[in-house]
Amino acid sequence: MTLDLSKFAAEKGVKYFMISYTDLFGGQRAKLVPAEAIADMQKDGAGFAGFATWFDLTPAHPDLFAVPDASSVIQLPWKKDVAWVAADCMMEDQPVEQAPRVVLKKLIAEAASEGLRVKTGVEPEFFLISPDGAKISDEYDTAEKPCYDQQAVMRRYDVIAEICDYMLELGWKPYQNDHEDANGQFEMNWEYDDALQTADKHSFFKFMVKSVAEKHGLRATFMPKPFKGLTGNGCHAHISVWDLDGKVNAFADREMPFGLSAKGKTFLGGIMKHASALAAVTNPTVNSYKRINAPRTVSGATWAPNTVTWTGNNRTHMVRVPGPGRFELRLPDGAVNPYLLQAIIIAAGLSGVRSKADPGPHYDIDMYREGHTVTDAPKLPLNLLDALREYEKDAELQQALGMEFSNAYLKLKQGEWNSYCAQFTAWEHQTTLDV
Ligand code: ADP
Ligand code: MG
Ligand code: MG
Ligand code: MG
Ligand code: MG
Repeated sequence: MTLDLSKFAAEKGVKYFMISYTDLFGGQRAKLVPAEAIADMQKDGAGFAGFATWFDLTPAHPDLFAVPDASSVIQLPWKKDVAWVAADCMMEDQPVEQAPRVVLKKLIAEAASEGLRVKTGVEPEFFLISPDGAKISDEYDTAEKPCYDQQAVMRRYDVIAEICDYMLELGWKPYQNDHEDANGQFEMNWEYDDALQTADKHSFFKFMVKSVAEKHGLRATFMPKPFKGLTGNGCHAHISVWDLDGKVNAFADREMPFGLSAKGKTFLGGIMKHASALAAVTNPTVNSYKRINAPRTVSGATWAPNTVTWTGNNRTHMVRVPGPGRFELRLPDGAVNPYLLQAIIIAAGLSGVRSKADPGPHYDIDMYREGHTVTDAPKLPLNLLDALREYEKDAELQQALGMEFSNAYLKLKQGEWNSYCAQFTAWEHQTTLDV
């Protein structure tokens, strides 16, 4: 039974709906629709000029309609007059195949046709910084090893507790909040869920963290590497696959090494096989490659991978199996599009399951110290262009996400890379002036 948004508004005292969709670059786009007008919008969607956002569309295209998925509705805990609702993009009554939420729903349906239900949890790290973005917001947060800093997390208690209270109120089952490994960096964790629900929550979490930070006169950033020398913002994903009724974890097998079942290993095999191409989505910005491939940070480790390897409970690899029945992909960063993250995990994993892919050997070593001894594992892309070329070479992954999406994504991201290359930097002036 579809929830009637008009009734929802009357019951909850909602005055406006924020009908929100996510474009190819992860931008959240919305219209504020008064409750009086929601009944028609729930059916037909809110109209947008798609070209005005990050899609491969022209100004001549017909209207893009964002049709709310009522099951995703959330009354803003910090502004009860407004309710956010995730929307699916339609054009002339057809789904827009390049739209991230549409891509994800297609892959979830494909997994279901194989009897699989993917559940994931994400860890979107963020910094609390000054409103102008120039520095971290807490001038006393200067420790060399600031991870779990008790004093520093309490100096931001008002922000962190407010966000956590909202997650409790929304029933997300948050269970811990901490100061992370960089000065000014925090992480908040809540319980894993089905891939679409996690993607919606991940989107809403970013919106909520930014909104609450602004309310307190600060700014929150999920930028992959906002400050040179400090650990960057990861967005690790923990992944498990279940039967269709969500009761039996198909990844759990306590008899197997690390408690990861044979099926789980083939899913992981798909992730390993497609890792370099996957980076085009999990590490989608120029700045992303300053987080992976980074030199050692002030704290002693980057906590980010640079090579395609996996292992047990060891955080120096691209994939960690922290315990039975799931694995952690440590590659994605804070810039990742919440919907495309889930979509590409399912696409690569399904490819592995279908081809019974072998993830290869696990290296139970400290990759930061001994990584040079691993000679037969691919290095992750060194920059965005590298990653886009890997994606372009990976026909199977491109098709799994859909050619309309893949072509649009490659075209727009190539444009971003070209725009970056057109910059004249202080570094090149300095190093080239006297040649
Ligand atoms: P760590 O920092 O050790 O990687 P966190 O506790 O910060 O771990 O995050 C773990 C994430 O993994 C949470 O979102 C949690 O809900 C999720 N998770 C736990 N078990 C599973 C599972 N079986 N399947 C998917 N996600 C899981
Ligand atoms: Mg207008
Ligand atoms: Mg964590
Ligand atoms: Mg972390
Ligand atoms: Mg983690």
